[in-house]
Amino acid sequence: MRKMRLAIVGAGPAGIYAADILLKHERTFDVSIDLFDHLPAPYGLVRYGVAPDHPRIKGIITALREVLDRGDIRIFGNVRFGEDLTLDDLKQHYHAVIFATGAVRDASLDIPGIHIPGSYGAADFVSWYDGHPDVPRDWPLEAESVAVIGNGNVALDVARMLAKHVEDLMPTEVPANVEAGLRASPVTDVHVFGRRGPMQVKFTPLELRELGELRDVDLVVAEEDFEYDEAARAAIESNKQILVIDRIMRAWREHPQTGSSRRLHLHFWAKPVEIVAGSDGRVAAIRVERTVSDGAGGARGTGEIREVPVQAVYRAVGYFGSPLPGVPFDEQHGVIPNHEGRALDARGEVIPGIYATGWIKRGPVGLIGHTKSDAMETIQHLVRDQANWWSPAEPEESSVNALLESRRVRWTDLDGWHRLDAHELARGDAAAPPRTRVKVVPRDDMVQISRAE
Ligand SMILES: Cc1cc2nc3c(=O)[nH]c(=O)nc-3n(C[C@H](O)[C@H](O)[C@H](O)COP(=O)(O)OP(=O)(O)OC[C@H]3O[C@@H](n4cnc5c(N)ncnc54)[C@H](O)[C@@H]3O)c2cc1C
Repeated sequence: MRKMRLAIVGAGPAGIYAADILLKHERTFDVSIDLFDHLPAPYGLVRYGVAPDHPRIKGIITALREVLDRGDIRIFGNVRFGEDLTLDDLKQHYHAVIFATGAVRDASLDIPGIHIPGSYGAADFVSWYDGHPDVPRDWPLEAESVAVIGNGNVALDVARMLAKHVEDLMPTEVPANVEAGLRASPVTDVHVFGRRGPMQVKFTPLELRELGELRDVDLVVAEEDFEYDEAARAAIESNKQILVIDRIMRAWREHPQTGSSRRLHLHFWAKPVEIVAGSDGRVAAIRVERTVSDGAGGARGTGEIREVPVQAVYRAVGYFGSPLPGVPFDEQHGVIPNHEGRALDARGEVIPGIYATGWIKRGPVGLIGHTKSDAMETIQHLVRDQANWWSPAEPEESSVNALLESRRVRWTDLDGWHRLDAHELARGDAAAPPRTRVKVVPRDDMVQISRAE
């Protein structure tokens, strides 16, 4: 039986699901899969994006781990496509590649003042509190009043992590330096700004409800933001999710504040138009324009400007994919141009051997579960395209190890991940009080522990 050698770049959920689906797929060929990731540990944004106080979602790692633990997928961590390995290398050793490299940076927001000190991207903050090895370990949490721009779940994560008392983050896997930083934070008010109305948010009900359950944090909404028009009423009637969101917000409007030491304000119909610097050059306020419904689910400006004093701004307006050397990239949407997972060239023609799945295929929207259906579609094409795969000159598995060795790449493998995982869990057990896990953060330490050096 013909044996296919497949490279998957990106060991987040999309890459792992793609490998799993191909291995279980009905097919007329054998398959051997190598999974590469530039991080020394697998699981992508499940490890480095999902908030530490969401253990149920973090628990998806258990299912992903079961796939890897079967032992029929080889993992190469700490290998960066584009530096340690190129597209030409992949063509030399594999019949095809699936890119599952996700999206790790913040989308831009083009308003005056967005780059002044004290204005941050949510992705960087998330990477910090989730212990990502490639971001600085210190985060300046000096603001009493903070603005969060955005009305999606990442904005809620950031607002919640800023407003929540650190004691209530225990016993999660939040790293020790993050715990110390949050403990010293003087924050009292977190303001979340959305340019559209409360019935047009992208929050999911579960995450929204959680905000109202934070200990010693009052939820503040303005009654004037809740004058529903026809479009909002239609949304409530036709969409179960919006109906639940309306119920949650209704309960908040009816409950008086209880004098908590921290407040979380949700501002709707408020479009950020400028971040204002103080005399020290740092963030001093955010200017927002009042908007109104355009009658079609969107919003238009009214020209009425309001200034809210804040000392830090976090923009959570979406993530954005990064280009991969030698691979076409759609600069506007931050994805590999593709049709149902088959990469396309500038003329819109299918490029043989190159596939995409997950956020780099579809853009940074949707939950972890959606990457499974993504992978299903991509794998179906991969299997059908058999006649057009590459013809590698060196398809032997050992040739890839030899190549990485010749380049002195210190890659980590499945046994290495088991070592690192066990080490982190043991650190969690040994902590006082015990914690789910204490992550190893510096990349070198991760690699050393994984490689038992
Ligand atoms: C802050 C945040 C919170 C979230 N919370 C939830 C939640 O609670 N529930 C939920 O269902 N979903 C949540 N999501 C969404 C979820 O994380 C994504 O749907 C999912 O991770 C996308 O999977 P992916 O595999 O496409 O990308 P990723 O998870 O980003 O994985 C991509 C992998 O590719 C690797 N990579 C990138 N470039 C290279 C390269 N050049 N060479 C080698 N490897 C590379 C990366 O290191 C990474 O491991 C959240 C997302 C964010 C940003």
